[in-house]
Amino acid sequence: MTTTHTEGRNGANPYQMALEQLAIVAELLNLDPNIHEFLKYPERELTVHFPVQMDDGSVHIFTGYRVQHNRARGPSKGGIRYHPHADLDEVRALAMWMTWKCAVVNIPYGGAKGGVMCDPKKLSLKELERLTRRYATEISVIIGPESDIPAPDVGTDPQVMAWIMDTFSMHRGYTVPAVVTGKPIPIGGSEGRIEATGRGLVMIASRCSQMLNIPLQGARVVIQGFGNVGSSAAKFFHEAGAKVIAVSDAVNAVYNPKGLDVPVLLKHCVRREGTLPQYAEGDIITNEEMLELPCDFLVPAALGNQITSHNATRVKAKVIIEGANGPTTPEADRVLTEAGVFLVPDILANAGGVIVSYFEWVQDLQSFFWSEDEVNQKLERVLISAFDDVVRTAKTRKVDMRTAAYIIGVGRVADAIITRGIYP
Ligand code: NAD
Repeated sequence: MTTTHTEGRNGANPYQMALEQLAIVAELLNLDPNIHEFLKYPERELTVHFPVQMDDGSVHIFTGYRVQHNRARGPSKGGIRYHPHADLDEVRALAMWMTWKCAVVNIPYGGAKGGVMCDPKKLSLKELERLTRRYATEISVIIGPESDIPAPDVGTDPQVMAWIMDTFSMHRGYTVPAVVTGKPIPIGGSEGRIEATGRGLVMIASRCSQMLNIPLQGARVVIQGFGNVGSSAAKFFHEAGAKVIAVSDAVNAVYNPKGLDVPVLLKHCVRREGTLPQYAEGDIITNEEMLELPCDFLVPAALGNQITSHNATRVKAKVIIEGANGPTTPEADRVLTEAGVFLVPDILANAGGVIVSYFEWVQDLQSFFWSEDEVNQKLERVLISAFDDVVRTAKTRKVDMRTAAYIIGVGRVADAIITRGIYP
């Protein structure tokens, strides 16, 4: 399979990284080489080039993707990313990670992901809507409530999901709420979905704090990224009594060893790039320096490839909880494991989002909605039981947490493939 360019993501190719992680666990699981080969490739990849009329009357051609990695355990599920460097290899990797994520938390989905190469911050609201509706139309041949269900990711939000749901419904001639998750609540969204990923991260941090005897009260927390995931993680860490000492966006990082004023930052800075220094009382540092600060919990919640062989030896966190997908390379994993850093991998740590997306889909299909308390309780049950399973596997197999999560996730997908058999 040809791989695409790596520009704009720190040089490493995420799909190669995903394949390397799969190879490690294939060996440990003694996986049938035929199944391993099958799992290396996405089942379906759709590339679309589509025109969008811009506000000045010109027509711009955009490129987008929808990749379905594996559907052995159910319909495929995964977000849509709008980013200037979204490319096919990144979407392939993200789709594969979704397969393992859904399997490790045992929800009945396979993995998928979508992306459009664009900078949403440079588009007007009307341009963003036209781009979204046309992209949704182009991928409508493979998405649907029984086949593949998108959700928000970097650069997309509930409004974008609403446009996708509306476009798909217009084509069908009736309303299909379950075609996407992460929708606004009045059109079939779930209570608790927006904050679910950040809430889940802090549920896991709390479990780690009991296990490792690092009290959350007063714990020093560093969070990279202040979008959906980073800002809600900051909120829940703050509510749990932890001290958020540094946060960042794509422009700046701010650091105050005494703790930042999280409610003020939440009020003014979420998804507003470059505004952190205006509202935070602290020193402005670089994103690179921030990752190397001494702290109890480090939460990368921006993009992939942030902790690599170049900086892993300088990371001083006791615990890393991966909010972003693919923030740590396999070489960095080896360095961190050797240094005794306790790392909760992305496919487990940030699964709160897809778990509540699953709840949203279930509620849409049955047209019967739950209270936020009900959603949060169910989230905690599913996520913490998956976390405990991974901890047990890590202990019994004497492996790190990522490998343990992969043993469970890849193992379940392989079992489903073997049980169903190879068609025809
Ligand atoms: P978002 O677009 O809401 O926020 C992204 C944040 O990252 C922004 O604050 C942005 O400024 C920052 N950022 C971008 N480039 C950066 C850089 N080079 N250095 C530092 N910060 C940078 O996106 P999100 O939904 O919060 O997603 C963040 C990560 O979490 C992604 O890896 C995504 O795949 C993952 N994730 C998201 C969800 C979800 O429910 N939204 C679920 C699971 C995983």
